[in-house]
Amino acid sequence: MVIFWLFSLAALASSLPPWQAVNGQAGLPLRDWARIAELSVIESPKSGRVVLEGKGMPPILMLPGTPFALRGGQFLRLSSSLARAKNGALLLSAAGANELFLPLWPKEPKGWPRPPGAPRGPAPCKMERPVRKVFLDPGHGGTDLGTSRGGIDEKAIVLRFADLAAQELRASGFEVSQSRTKDVFLPLDIRNRLAMEWQADIFVSLHVNHSPSATAQGTETYILSPDATDDEARRLALLENSAAERKAKSKASAIQDILWDMEQTAYLQDSAFLAAFVQESLVGTALRWMTERGLQGEWRNRGVRQAPFFVLSRAPMPAILVELGYLSHKRDREFLQKDIFLQSLAKALAQGIKKYRDICVP
Ligand SMILES: [Zn+2]
Repeated sequence: MVIFWLFSLAALASSLPPWQAVNGQAGLPLRDWARIAELSVIESPKSGRVVLEGKGMPPILMLPGTPFALRGGQFLRLSSSLARAKNGALLLSAAGANELFLPLWPKEPKGWPRPPGAPRGPAPCKMERPVRKVFLDPGHGGTDLGTSRGGIDEKAIVLRFADLAAQELRASGFEVSQSRTKDVFLPLDIRNRLAMEWQADIFVSLHVNHSPSATAQGTETYILSPDATDDEARRLALLENSAAERKAKSKASAIQDILWDMEQTAYLQDSAFLAAFVQESLVGTALRWMTERGLQGEWRNRGVRQAPFFVLSRAPMPAILVELGYLSHKRDREFLQKDIFLQSLAKALAQGIKKYRDICVP
């Protein structure tokens, strides 16, 4: 019995490639990851690039010595670099391999290597810099009203909300700056530039939604993507982008700019975590707010979604765009005009950002 057990353990161990230390983490040669993922590795000594190819898979391009990768045109910043071992072999940590390969499949392939003691599930978020400075960007302003219904303008609601959120964030120890504190028009690229010059750690654009459907309701949070989650997200991005893009530029070329802009894509994973924490906090608070007042109905969690928002594209920091609620929905509109409701949501936004800081910053 004991002999058999030892034998089977040895057989299992020999079928797994041995783990190696890569940038202080457990990793494997890139060729082993590629073999398991059924990809072939092509190294180009001339360009220094490494290309991974497989049938029906988007090509992956990597640069040894850096954590950067392009996967089917999507720019990624992995949590560790592709390292070169003394014998010349390329090594990739398990965390890096998970980030790079696992999104290729609907679920984790059977037998996917995990270093001993590694937790399953998505890689935890990890910010490489402190989160102290939060830049709030109330959308629209001046001649750009945003969405408008029943004499109520998006630009006014988001400005009031930003002022309240700034107070809450300051009370939680953050430094806060706003793209605007008055009813003025600001082009989208200026908003990014202000955040960058101020060296913001987080960028939060604030908006209120509208829909031709009177029943559309609730909160959604966006992160940047060249591809929209669905038609509704695409429509919203075009609307928010065109509202302030008043240059003689076509919409198509504005979107093209976003596609080629790599600034935000390096922070997408962090943005996704930030968006998840903020979204959860906002929806939970809105629901609690209603329950506490004995109000019927629900506050819809419309989730974290992706769309090509211009205002997020040039932010070299985790960046999200929050659509607090729907001005086209009667009850949302009523709530969004109440300071007491906005105050609760402002507190919720600060709590979401705080959670992100506490969990993601080492
Ligand atoms: Zn807006």
